[in-house]
Amino acid sequence: MDRRQLGKDRSHLMIPYGRQDIQQADIDAVLEVLQSDFLTQGPVVPRFESAVADKVGARHALAVNSATSALHIACLALGLGKGDWLWTSPITFVASANCGLYCGAKVDFVDIDPRTYNLCPQALAAKLEQAERAGRLPKVVVAVHLCGQPCDMQAIHALSQRYGFHIIEDASHAIGGKYQGDYIGNGRYSDITVFSFHPVKIITTAEGGMALTNDDALARRMDLLRSHGVTRDPALMTHEADGPWYYQQIELGYNYRMTELQAALGLSQLERLDDYVARRHALAKRYDQALVEFPVVTPWQHPDSSSAWHLYVVRLKLEDINLTRRQVFDYLRSKGVGVNVHYIPIHTQPYYARLEFYSENYPNSLNYYSSAISVPLHPSLSCQQQDIVVESLKYIVR
Ligand SMILES: *Cc1c(COP(=O)(O)O)cnc(C)c1O
Repeated sequence: MDRRQLGKDRSHLMIPYGRQDIQQADIDAVLEVLQSDFLTQGPVVPRFESAVADKVGARHALAVNSATSALHIACLALGLGKGDWLWTSPITFVASANCGLYCGAKVDFVDIDPRTYNLCPQALAAKLEQAERAGRLPKVVVAVHLCGQPCDMQAIHALSQRYGFHIIEDASHAIGGKYQGDYIGNGRYSDITVFSFHPVKIITTAEGGMALTNDDALARRMDLLRSHGVTRDPALMTHEADGPWYYQQIELGYNYRMTELQAALGLSQLERLDDYVARRHALAKRYDQALVEFPVVTPWQHPDSSSAWHLYVVRLKLEDINLTRRQVFDYLRSKGVGVNVHYIPIHTQPYYARLEFYSENYPNSLNYYSSAISVPLHPSLSCQQQDIVVESLKYIVR
């Protein structure tokens, strides 16, 4: 077997919970850039940005080297700093919360809705009421579209109007998903939306992310922050340019730029976005049907939402199956089914637990965590592979 075949033959491996899909068109697009004049800061990054902005209906899109970077510059652009609060859900990847700490802000959590597993608007309303009395309202709320299913954005937006906080949508799971019929990322109910292009997400650029906004000033700030705070725009300078070489640093920024190679891969992948999401929908429906009448709770979908289906999370009915989640997890892994758990509640992470301000319990989040298991879902998952997942799961929970 030559090495190229070895790279493609994955039959001996675990069926992964998520994985990229790379086709010849992607490879050609990346090779073309590799042979061009620009590996970074060329024409492809702006083309990728425009293509994503047009696709989802946003005014501005800023490509960066990860969603984590996008969250960081989004928080900075919104003015989050020392003494401020950022709130998010405990059931998300740590990056959704860390962006607050990067800015010197404090982080607190709002419990999840027991059906969607997203940040619960009722819990948010109750917490806001208390925070208003205590004089510690949040400056930013990060609404995470867990598994690709949008949050109840209309309700969260209504609360932001009343209490005056900003909203970042962490749509790392959700490009290609829709809320009330429109693509996530259009910013109707938020200030900034963030996408991730990590290989397990819906489309990939290897590492990569994007921040989208309809606000010109926020876009300008994020553009500065992703590249050292440096500008060549005479309109932003404090005085006339010394000459054609001149630039000014007017903020403390970072090097969070995306490369041309990544953008070429992203542009090529974006063409298949709707196909990917359609395939994920079909696979999710197959799981739904196959798991009826088994002691698991399949993902409930809100009528306003059309998920991007990044993850398919089942909740084990542990009291009915008389096993621990760990036992089910270990069995499935032993059968080559690459299950995973999304996510460990952030407030229980040692780094967060030692920060003093988490005295609260989050009963829905802890309850969710005790029984959640993500089964494989990605566009190149075959029906045969999915049947192996289903049969293994049915065997162990029966
Ligand atoms: C993957 C992920 C991130 C971070 O994305 P990167 O592009 O890897 O930095 C942030 N938030 C959520 C919810 C994620 O799943």
